[in-house]
Amino acid sequence: MSSTPVNPLKLLALAVCLCVLSCIFFTGGAEVAETVYFLPKDNVDIAKNPDRDYLIVGFSQPIPEEYIEALQPDLVYLPNYVDGDTMAVEKAAYLAFTRLQWDLRNKYGINVALYDGYRTVADQQWLIESGLATYTTGQPGYSEHHTGLLLDIIVEVGEYYYSELAVLTDESVPEEVKSSTAFNTLHEILPDYGFIIRYPKGKESYTGIAYNPSEIRFVGSKEVAHAIMDNNLCLEEYISTLTP
Ligand SMILES: [Zn+2]
Repeated sequence: MSSTPVNPLKLLALAVCLCVLSCIFFTGGAEVAETVYFLPKDNVDIAKNPDRDYLIVGFSQPIPEEYIEALQPDLVYLPNYVDGDTMAVEKAAYLAFTRLQWDLRNKYGINVALYDGYRTVADQQWLIESGLATYTTGQPGYSEHHTGLLLDIIVEVGEYYYSELAVLTDESVPEEVKSSTAFNTLHEILPDYGFIIRYPKGKESYTGIAYNPSEIRFVGSKEVAHAIMDNNLCLEEYISTLTP
């Protein structure tokens, strides 16, 4: 290797840590969602209705325990790309992700991988207790990872996989990685597979979370995803436009 070798494990660990740590709770905004919203799986009639399925998790209230128990996401288990440990993703989200992954590889030559998805309340508690997550996308019970629909992704650029957040925030990431267009391509095609960037730039006052392009959220259909991404909305804004 001619250039300075970069330890891939270090990078991957960094990607994970940054994902967790970057989920910084923004306190400046007054419009942070204070409600738990639900998005039905059939995508026909999206409404603020706790009897329905999927959801935005607000920051001022956790997912109701009975929801977690009663609507345990239908999970698919797979090895985490980073360390091979078992991780889980909600089934429909996983199927959509595999289509995205396949097309990215075969049409664009880009490899994308998953390193986190579903987390139990205990998982989230562990992240916090282990010091990985002092300020996170959620205290236990408040994290959208509890839905299994929020996926943390990494993209192969050159020799290694990177979270886009690491690329944006870590100065030690090589310039050729920072200038890669792989992430742009990913952003462009995400909605075609029903995914959005969950914490977009400039929407911190709504989401309560710092910009984090490494966290993608399955919203059930490409129509919903396009309605959000094409109009530069975040999920909170989109849902607020719908008639209850
Ligand atoms: Zn995450």
